[in-house]
Amino acid sequence: WPVTIIIIVIGVIVIVALVTVAVLQNMPLSQKYKYGIVLDAGSSHTALYIYEWPAEKDNNTGRVQQTHVCKVQGPGISSYASEPWKAGESLMACMQEAQQRVPGKRHLETPLYLGATAGMRLLNMENSSASDAVFRAVERSLHTFPFNFQGARILSGQEEGAFGWVTVNYLADRLEQGLETTGALDLGGASTQISFVSSNYDGSESPSNSVTFRLYGNNYNLYTNSFLCYGKDQAMKLLLAQQTLLAPKTIVDPCFHPGYSEAVSYSGLYDSPCVSNRKPQGAPEAFNHTGSGNFLQCQDVVKSIFNFTYCKYSHCSFNGVFQPLLQGHFGAFSAYYFVMDFLNLTDTSIPLTKVKEVISSYCATPWDEVKRQHPGVKVKYLAEYCFAGAYILTLLTEGYNFTSDSYTQIEFIKKIKGSDAGWTLGYMLNLTNMIPAEAPDSPPLPYA
Ligand code: AMP
Repeated sequence: WPVTIIIIVIGVIVIVALVTVAVLQNMPLSQKYKYGIVLDAGSSHTALYIYEWPAEKDNNTGRVQQTHVCKVQGPGISSYASEPWKAGESLMACMQEAQQRVPGKRHLETPLYLGATAGMRLLNMENSSASDAVFRAVERSLHTFPFNFQGARILSGQEEGAFGWVTVNYLADRLEQGLETTGALDLGGASTQISFVSSNYDGSESPSNSVTFRLYGNNYNLYTNSFLCYGKDQAMKLLLAQQTLLAPKTIVDPCFHPGYSEAVSYSGLYDSPCVSNRKPQGAPEAFNHTGSGNFLQCQDVVKSIFNFTYCKYSHCSFNGVFQPLLQGHFGAFSAYYFVMDFLNLTDTSIPLTKVKEVISSYCATPWDEVKRQHPGVKVKYLAEYCFAGAYILTLLTEGYNFTSDSYTQIEFIKKIKGSDAGWTLGYMLNLTNMIPAEAPDSPPLPYA
């Protein structure tokens, strides 16, 4: 008997020990992960991203990933200039969602950042007190949540470009492994960024375009430039403003479909510093914007919003801005992706000649037919894909000098390993010092 009892007791102890180990291994996520939240306050919309990484190894590489994204309802915060409190209110629903998704125990230590980009850069240029009021309103809202709020600010164009590049290369594990990096092409509504490492560029020719990083023991000399007013929506304003100079009452726009017709108010068109100084004297209240759907003519008018006439450097992109020779592979995201995805042109094997044919045939399709073919797509986007496709091609080939060969090096991407491509992850990694300057200690070499 005593032997049987001892065996049973030992058996129970072993089972309890096994169950305890199993439970400890499957502890709730809140014990295992840390979190960070970044709000991307873009010109047309705001999005909230939640990132998580293993709690025990903060500095471990390639481990931070996006777990959730919440799209804020309504327009970007710069649109609330005349009623700033609404900018703060607009963020509440996504913030409440974040409060639900991040485990309660982690709330107080979870850093929260809001970064605003070109929409707020433009508002700040135009009316700095309105932009200050918008920031005060969003800060008031964000302070009501239990997270570790680290402030709301406008990113410089350089930061936006450089952090987009960090994100893309971090997610693809190129930094930790010291591999050749991928360039980053970002197209927003109000600005566009190009960032890449080029071996013939040491930063001296145009220091304002140069950002240096030391990451995982490697030095990077990054070229980056942000073109304010050359985001998709502001570029469209530049284009319309150009055309209203020639025909102030009715524009026949080759970048819109045949049969397209809409009244556009002059005050709406000229409400941005990108075009406000071009408003014609005595302009009528509105003009009629109609389409003719001619891709080649569209490319010609799009070209006219770029200035190629002067360059004081060895090489320029456009508007007299220095750009070293393109090198390597590029990831193109944000509106580059939305537009090329809609046009079914994200496949890297599609040659430039075919891309032009597809956009040309889309532009020539009558507007009624386009609407019939895409009943689920927002009409504003639908009307603009012809212009947007032609703009992207012109920006890439005429603006940045991609050729039919180097075009094949561009990959149109939305996500990498489940995380969105964009500046937000790079921004958080930088502010939380999560990418070490030096490579983690390598294990000692075994004795020979
Ligand atoms: P931002 O708000 O500055 O980040 O800019 C985002 C840009 O992407 C804006 O020009 C939007 O109009 C554009 N965009 C967002 N979603 C779509 C979509 N589904 N199709 C086309 N353009 C889009």
